[in-house]
Amino acid sequence: MADNPTSGTQSLKEQFWDPVAGFGVTFRTMFRKVVTEQYPKEKRPTAPRFHGRHQLNRWPDGLEKCVGCELCAWACPADAIYVEGAENTEDERFSPGERYGRVYQINYLRCILCGLCIEACPTRALTMTNEYELADDNRADLIYEKSDLLAPLLPGMEQPPHPMRLGDTEKAYYRGEHAAVSVDAEHRPEASRAAQEPTGEEHQ
Ligand code: SF4
Ligand code: SF4
Repeated sequence: MADNPTSGTQSLKEQFWDPVAGFGVTFRTMFRKVVTEQYPKEKRPTAPRFHGRHQLNRWPDGLEKCVGCELCAWACPADAIYVEGAENTEDERFSPGERYGRVYQINYLRCILCGLCIEACPTRALTMTNEYELADDNRADLIYEKSDLLAPLLPGMEQPPHPMRLGDTEKAYYRGEHAAVSVDAEHRPEASRAAQEPTGEEHQ
């Protein structure tokens, strides 16, 4: 039988080119940008509107924006929120409304961070932060209480219960007419802005 005239070329190709071609994907990948993230040593910032842990916000005088209406709990598809409202009194006022959230819990074992609760909230009391480190090694600690969710007191805010400090009438209070503010007036403008505007941490 006669020899195939191309057998020498094929043999060279098989010997030298095919092994190199086999590493083609490896070589191409070596020069691409590395996408591995060094979490938790390096934490990259999330997108600004990332849905992370919830926050219960305050008015600039420190009173709580939550009025215990339970709309967030009714809107939640995962039944992750539990609210118990209670009446404010003139001696013990926690929010500027008639009621406040006496008990407020979010169960992060159930929450799917969908954000429907913050859409339902009529007072913008409930928003979501960019915090995403919500893992734990026991179930009880993943049920966040009101004390875990309440926004910290900023300069110029006063720990409730206390009277409404942002005006003599409800209209003045909600319009932000701060003439009657008596708490640390020096810090009021910063505290007011911080409490009324979303920060990098808080968004809806
Ligand atoms: S983010 Fe969604 S699942 Fe989580 S508490 Fe709000 S409504 Fe419920
Ligand atoms: S967080 Fe908003 S919707 Fe939920 S109980 Fe408070 S005021 Fe109502």
